[in-house]
Amino acid sequence: MTWTVGPLRAAPGTTARGGVPVDLGTTTVELPLTLVHGHRPGPRVVITAGMHGGEFVGVDAAVRLAAALKPDAVHGRVAICPVANPPAVYHGRLDASPLDGVNINRVFPGDRRGTPTERLAAWHVEHLVAGADAYLDLHSGGIDEDLTDFVGYRLTGDPRLDDRARRMAHHLGVQDVVFGREANGGNSHAAAARLGVPAVLVETGDRGRREPATAARLADNVLGLLTELGVVGAGVVEAGAVEPGVVGPEAAPAPRRDPAPPRHRVREWVWAGAVTAGATGLWYPTATAGEDVTAGRPIGRLVDPADGRTTPVISPATGRVFYNSHALTVAAGDELAAIAAPHTEGHRPASAAR
Ligand SMILES: [Zn+2]
Repeated sequence: MTWTVGPLRAAPGTTARGGVPVDLGTTTVELPLTLVHGHRPGPRVVITAGMHGGEFVGVDAAVRLAAALKPDAVHGRVAICPVANPPAVYHGRLDASPLDGVNINRVFPGDRRGTPTERLAAWHVEHLVAGADAYLDLHSGGIDEDLTDFVGYRLTGDPRLDDRARRMAHHLGVQDVVFGREANGGNSHAAAARLGVPAVLVETGDRGRREPATAARLADNVLGLLTELGVVGAGVVEAGAVEPGVVGPEAAPAPRRDPAPPRHRVREWVWAGAVTAGATGLWYPTATAGEDVTAGRPIGRLVDPADGRTTPVISPATGRVFYNSHALTVAAGDELAAIAAPHTEGHRPASAAR
C-alpha cells in the first residue's frame, strides 16, 4: 500500500522526498521529509531532528540517513524529518520559536487549534509519531548549552513498552542513558510514550558545534539501532559515510571518523533535579556538563549586573550535570542545569518476572 504524508507518496520499494506544507494558523511552514518505504514489510520508524535551533549534529545526521537509506535495504518504513521546527531552526537558532516564543519540546502532543508551535507539535504527532513502532528525536546542546552525550527515555508503567524503549536507548552506542520515572510533560519522547510508542531522546554534541565526524558517528549509531529494530537489513552502506549534497567522485573519501568509542557498559541514570534561574542576571556556573555535584552545594552563582549582588545557585540533587546553560545572560525561569543520579536498583523486575 502506498504510504502518504501530505503531498508525499511512497509506494513499496520507493523513496519519496520533498517539502510538506504545514498550516500553523498565522503562517504555513514546509517540513523537509523523506519516506523510505521498503520492499518488505516491517516496523514503521520515525526519526526527527531540528526540533530546536542551533542543534546541528542531529540535523546533519538525519540528512545523512535520508541519503543513505535505500528501500531495498529497508524492511518496513522509515520517516526522516531533519528540520522538524523550521522557524526555530532557520530564524531563531535557539529553543524557542520566533513565531510565538514557545519551546516545542515543552508542548507535545501539541494542539491543532493552539499557537503556531503547538500546531506544529500536533502535526508531528498526528502524521508521524502516532502509531509508529519506534520514535527517535535527535537533539544536541544548543548554541548556549553545555551537554554531555546521553540517550533519554521515560517510564510509563507498561513493562513491555518500557523494555522496548530501554532496549532502544541501550543500542545507540552511547554510554550514558538517562530515564525519567514518569512519561509526563511536553517532551516529544514523553508524549510518544504516553501514546504507546517506544521513544528515545538522543542528545549529541553541544554549544552549536557541527563536527562532521560527530554527525557521521551519530548517523551510524542510529543505523545500528535501525538494524537492531529489524527495519534495516544487513549490508546497508554506512550512513555516516554519506556527505550531504556530494555526489559522484567528490563523494569520496568518507569524512574522518571519530575514533570508535571504547565499549563501555551502558550506565543508567535517573533524572534527579533541574535548576532554574531565580532572577534575571548573569550566570557563572562552577559545575558544568559531565561533572558530579552534591545536593545542597553550589553549582554556580547569579550576579545582578545592576548592583553586583551575588546569589549562590544550589544543586537540588547529588549526581551528574548532564546539561547546563552556557549563557552568561539568563532570564528568570531559564533552565540553568539538569542533574541525574546514578541508577543502582535492579531496573527490570516487572518484566524479568514474566
Ligand atoms: Zn533540543
